[in-house]
Amino acid sequence: MSDRRTDLLGLTRDRLAAEMAALGERPFRAKQLWHWIYHRGVTDFADMTSLARPLREKLAERHVVGRPTVARRQRSADGTVKWLFRFADGQEAEAVHIPEEDRGAVCISTQVGCTLTCRFCHTGTQLLVRDLTAGEMVGQFMAARDACGEWPTPGDGTVRHLSNIVVMGMGEPLFNYDAVRDALRIAMDNEGLGISRRRITLSTSGVVPMIRRFGEEVNTDLAISLHAVRDDLRNELMPINRKYPLADLLAACRDYPRASNARRITFEYLLLKGVNDSEADARELARLLGDIPAKVNLLPFNPWPGCGYRPSPPAAMKRFSARLNDLGLSAPIRVPRGRDIMAACGQLKSDSRRDPMSRRRARLAAGIVDDCHGAC
Ligand code: SAH
Ligand code: SF4
Repeated sequence: MSDRRTDLLGLTRDRLAAEMAALGERPFRAKQLWHWIYHRGVTDFADMTSLARPLREKLAERHVVGRPTVARRQRSADGTVKWLFRFADGQEAEAVHIPEEDRGAVCISTQVGCTLTCRFCHTGTQLLVRDLTAGEMVGQFMAARDACGEWPTPGDGTVRHLSNIVVMGMGEPLFNYDAVRDALRIAMDNEGLGISRRRITLSTSGVVPMIRRFGEEVNTDLAISLHAVRDDLRNELMPINRKYPLADLLAACRDYPRASNARRITFEYLLLKGVNDSEADARELARLLGDIPAKVNLLPFNPWPGCGYRPSPPAAMKRFSARLNDLGLSAPIRVPRGRDIMAACGQLKSDSRRDPMSRRRARLAAGIVDDCHGAC
């Protein structure tokens, strides 16, 4: 007989309280359960010792506290760990742990595949299979904590190395808005994972109306995948630009709540040889971002088999970075992590289903921007 138990992971506080009310339990039981699930990382109801045994048994009959399983794991020489996580229905998505000296970020995926077809991105060659649920997103971070043995026990003051979340894996997070919002609210909840909004960064290709809504409802740090300073080039590299051109995108950034010099918006800029790495590009970039509290992350392009671009040579990257600095913009070159395990977006899941490139290129050439779940 198939397992009909439902997963509690990813339910908002209100929905968890409603589940407990349906079992005839009072609200403080939902609070206790929340603590076990998100603060202690416990998945087995039998271990939730502050709950009475009959309640634990009732919960175990009806529910599970899920985790994705590890389908593949790769560890880079620089300590970066990449997991290919498998969800209950067999679908898979990637997450990456990027350790730094005193902290570490887990980069999570929001969709299996992506509807967009950014030409430099490997995920863009994969069909959108489905959105991930809030539980599957928060589950990637929690499974990383499981793997690193980072759940607190009462009274321990251990420094957590998995301190940050970057929503920068496979998929366009703002096309899966509700689930991403719920997952991040769960991650920020002080009585659970307790990751502050300053330690979470969401990266988007530029879904303008949803940037505004995200700013009002969630307001974590924001990163924009910019990659071009002219609409003609950005239209070519990132088809979403045809719907939300640069002027609209930058206006939404200007309005992003609580963006300030202490809390700047990150603009990601991939340097592609001979495409967007000229002196004129640097000047235009500085001009465009002139009145936005901004910092630029220069990303070395991570090439993949079949892509038509080449990375800018290191000397050109340094020149570009120096030029931006002269113009008053902080623009470090991000050290590529996990190169030996192809840690850029979508590259571990390389054997997944693909849309033939020729078909996607033809759609792009015809000006067809893929459907975005009615989000825009
Ligand atoms: N869809 C979102 C988040 C996922 S992509 C977005 O587009 O922002 C995460 C980041 O990886 C983006 O900045 C994207 O431009 C970058 N990226 C994609 N392909 C890459 C590649 N081959 N090399 C380096 N960075 C890449
Ligand atoms: Fe999708 Fe982001 Fe890749 Fe573009 S860069 S195809 S939006 S995952």
